[in-house]
Amino acid sequence: MRAHRNNHTSIARHPRRGGFTLVELLVVIGIIAVLIGILMPVLSKARAQANRVVCMSNIKQLYNGILMYCNDNKGYLPTCAMGTGGSYVPFPEDWIHWQANRNLTNSAIAKYVGRGEQLKRLLRCAADSFEGRKARGSAAEGPYLYSYHLNANAGHNFKPYGPFWRSKITEWRVPSNKILLTEGSEAFVLQPAIDYASPLAQRHGSAVFHGNVPGFPQLTRGMRNGSNVSTVFVDGHAEGIDQDFAFDQSRWEPSSPW
Ligand SMILES: [Zn+2]
Repeated sequence: MRAHRNNHTSIARHPRRGGFTLVELLVVIGIIAVLIGILMPVLSKARAQANRVVCMSNIKQLYNGILMYCNDNKGYLPTCAMGTGGSYVPFPEDWIHWQANRNLTNSAIAKYVGRGEQLKRLLRCAADSFEGRKARGSAAEGPYLYSYHLNANAGHNFKPYGPFWRSKITEWRVPSNKILLTEGSEAFVLQPAIDYASPLAQRHGSAVFHGNVPGFPQLTRGMRNGSNVSTVFVDGHAEGIDQDFAFDQSRWEPSSPW
């Protein structure tokens, strides 16, 4: 009799020892879902942060390559490798031999920063995507499949001026204010050269949209790029810039005194 009662009590206290009920499982799944919800933004933020760090490192290494090129070429910068057609022609001094019908390893800076796959890695931002890019010029050249763009005023691969129509790095006034390499919009800047009225990349971070630049509908100030566009200046320092900063012709011209 006594034993029976004990048995009964024990069963009553632990009625579900055999497994979980549906409600318990749902609670556990709910908790896991909440944890994933908390962790995912943290992880994607960490990844975005890592991408920016690597991107800045890439652009600084490319600067070093350009500087070493200048040292070996009487101070002249490499040419900006504008897509050919019209007056533009391929120059051996093009900083990047990006066209499908040229060899990347022959780029003017390759000798200093690495060739082949190594150079390709350096020229690509981890936050960039290369699918669906349009070709700018001929089908033989194909699309520009890299992330960084050289200031078009560095040196032109422009026929009438010959191969030496380019600037010396020492000619640039206020070099800490002059953009040398930056990240152009993958949708608009279809070549390795960039100028002041070109949209910048929107792949790092976010910012509040505050309007177009009057007269330049393609320039969406602040839209998704904040001060996050990796940029290296003629003096070698690197920082994040935004569209407002870049939309200033004086930052792109060697002779402007500010
Ligand atoms: Zn980047």
